Amino acid sequence: MINVFGHKSPDTDATCSALIWAWYLNEHTGADAQAFVLGELNTETKFVLNHWGVTAPALLETLAEDAQVVIVDTNNPQELPANINEAQVLQIIDHHKLVGGLETAGPVDITMRPLACTATVMHDLMGEKATTMPHEIAGLMLSCILSDTLAFRSPTTTPHDKDVAEKLAATLEIDLSAYADKMFAAKSDVSEFSDKGLITLDSKKYDVGDKNFRVSVLETTTPETVLERKDGIVAAIADLIAEEKDVDEVLFFIVDILNEKATVLTYNDLTTQVVEASFGVTVESDTEVLPGIVSRKKQILPALKM
Ligand code: MN
Ligand code: MN
Repeated sequence: MINVFGHKSPDTDATCSALIWAWYLNEHTGADAQAFVLGELNTETKFVLNHWGVTAPALLETLAEDAQVVIVDTNNPQELPANINEAQVLQIIDHHKLVGGLETAGPVDITMRPLACTATVMHDLMGEKATTMPHEIAGLMLSCILSDTLAFRSPTTTPHDKDVAEKLAATLEIDLSAYADKMFAAKSDVSEFSDKGLITLDSKKYDVGDKNFRVSVLETTTPETVLERKDGIVAAIADLIAEEKDVDEVLFFIVDILNEKATVLTYNDLTTQVVEASFGVTVESDTEVLPGIVSRKKQILPALKM
């Protein structure tokens, strides 16, 4: 069996792209493929699966030695099972920068394209066969694009992502922006998550200078509901750093999807220093608003410096 999965802290693209590609492999290549996730789903992804009537992928508890694997929506071994280099990686489909570190036993089929979303890459890989996608698989594909592009607000959006999404919405006879609003409302309801849960919900480890950061992002239409929990989040960050030996500090960005800005928590000297150096601002309190910043991939990570 082929195990198809995306990154830890799964988002809608990592989860639904795994489902899309497992469907494609089963339907069009005769393979026996199954989608998995590497962690708890966020509330947006749960909404999407429920909306299209698709069962959530099973949690991959352990990756069997020599398992056949297709990796989607990442190429970063830090975001994958610890023994990924012992697995038989058959294929990687991704849209992130190449970080290195993955090693494969044999030749591997890699498709990485500078598009906003893994599902758009899959749409193109399918070619004519994309028209054979059942309603729910096309719905998942549309959801991935809307999620990763924040409904075309993110600067990662390309005209091609938008074109594919609009065509899918037309085929599905769905009002694209009304549907996106529902997705983002679902994502914004984070009441079920603990403060620690909020930090790791959408988080990537990233080195800046000689410091190891977690760069956590929370995309929401109601930033005030997250900022109300600021003290608890800062306390949870201290606990997390004490627990995770390979993390020195957490940068926590609350992305206001509708108003296209981010609020970053500047709760100590190091976070203040990084935010000032990276974004050319003078921090005067324990939060800093960064107008226009919505994309970790395109605007936050490339800017980070000490
Ligand atoms: Mn992702
Ligand atoms: Mn993605």
